[in-house]
Amino acid sequence: MKQIVIAIDGPAASGKSTTAKLTAEKLNYIHVDTGAMYRALTLKIIKDNIDPEDEKSVYNAIRDCKIEFERKNRVTKVLLNGKDVTETIRNKEVTSAVSAISSYKRVRDLMVAQQRRMCTDGGVVLEGRDIGTVVVPNADLKIFMIASIEERAKRRQKELAEKGTTADFADLIKDINERDAKDSNRTESPLKKADDGIILDTSNLTINQQVDFIVNKALEIIKKIDS
Ligand code: C5P
Repeated sequence: MKQIVIAIDGPAASGKSTTAKLTAEKLNYIHVDTGAMYRALTLKIIKDNIDPEDEKSVYNAIRDCKIEFERKNRVTKVLLNGKDVTETIRNKEVTSAVSAISSYKRVRDLMVAQQRRMCTDGGVVLEGRDIGTVVVPNADLKIFMIASIEERAKRRQKELAEKGTTADFADLIKDINERDAKDSNRTESPLKKADDGIILDTSNLTINQQVDFIVNKALEIIKKIDS
């Protein structure tokens, strides 16, 4: 069976990560969370006390960073220079600064090169903001996930609650809107649906329905290629 490349893009908290992870599991593909890569670089900048607005210092600090995904017993860990940063990269400080770090062309070029290397043999589900438009414009299947802002804030609140953190609903809406605005309005690879991307509105869908939609589309494409 042909191993295809699936690109999943969409705004913050649209459910990309869980959907991409489960889709990859169903197809026995590799899941690449590109947002985690930008988050890991941002953590390094915070730890090194570098001003996120100082592009030159940011680039010099991250240029030799090594980001790896380690999979064990169905759990994927994000390693930054060999250290497990899976949980830390989700904290508020990183979330607030990541859009500044990811807006720099030289930073993006480094990440995009790594992401492209991960898809050379197919069998990959990549999720992010620019996967279908920049990273793999020739991906076999491109999905653009959207959901209402209220639904996204609700999901983020639930996710945080599961980790024992409480968050104000109005603050979450504000944070998500701000990050989307920064990601959509930047010059370099802004968040945008690819012309041939398929919109998947998950506002009223369960996770299983979202995953089934993508898996069914993927199987249709694979069948066509294989026949
Ligand atoms: O997907 P997640 O919300 O974890 O991504 C964190 C941030 O990383 C985004 O807000 C965006 O600034 C950046 N990002 C990006 N391009 C990608 C993936 C993420 O610019 N392909």
